Amino acid sequence: MSLQCPRCHSERIVPREVGKRAGGVIGAAGGAATGAAGAVSGAQAGAVVGAVAGPVGVVLGGLAGALFGGLVGGAAGCVAGAKLGEVVDEKVLGNCECLECGCVFSNPSGQHQG
Ligand SMILES: [Zn+2]
Repeated sequence: MSLQCPRCHSERIVPREVGKRAGGVIGAAGGAATGAAGAVSGAQAGAVVGAVAGPVGVVLGGLAGALFGGLVGGAAGCVAGAKLGEVVDEKVLGNCECLECGCVFSNPSGQHQG
């Protein structure tokens, strides 16, 4: 199937993923914040585990725990944000753009590309 611009009927249409990109960034930021909280508990847990190996283990364990917590939180947030952005793209924003006239419009619902 090919999309057409509702204004000039050109078929030079590109999908816009504004919401998806923005959602990914916002989600990553939010996820990193959540991850930071997770990093603290991760660091504590890591320190407890690392304590078996002595002071060096506490430091290494804490670092590993903090890193892990932050990364997981950021990644999870990014994925969740991108998913949310996709929905926003679909339901709220016009998610197609005409290269001829610059018209932005919504992809007809129920039709999936690719
Ligand atoms: Zn157009």
